[in-house]
Amino acid sequence: MLLAMAPASPIKLSDEEKLYILQRLDQFRQWHALDEKRYCLVCGEIITGRQIQVTRRTGGNGPLRIICPTEHCNAMPMQWVRPTEEVLIRIAMIEAERRRLCLIIRAGRAMQLLSKKDNKQYDQQNKP
Ligand SMILES: [Zn+2]
Repeated sequence: MLLAMAPASPIKLSDEEKLYILQRLDQFRQWHALDEKRYCLVCGEIITGRQIQVTRRTGGNGPLRIICPTEHCNAMPMQWVRPTEEVLIRIAMIEAERRRLCLIIRAGRAMQLLSKKDNKQYDQQNKP
């Protein structure tokens, strides 16, 4: 497991080189500029071509590989989609839902705390 997770060191490249590599290695979508954005289906982040990491699999001679820049996400080009309006709307909806859930959980906790406090007060008031 540890071996498989061994990080390949990112390679430093000029902008042109990086764009060229993106164009060559991403067989699924066209890249026209490094500032183009993609939505990573695995980690749910919006990434730019500039952020994408270029690594070499083994030593210095392995094939080049491009992976998602997000920590612990090794998504490959196949899992990057164009952030079209549809995708952005979905992201916004997921975000809104997450926030709503957060609020509900927080409200639930607050209610619990309140009811505990109430009980305490109630106990104290009713002490002989
Ligand atoms: Zn990712």
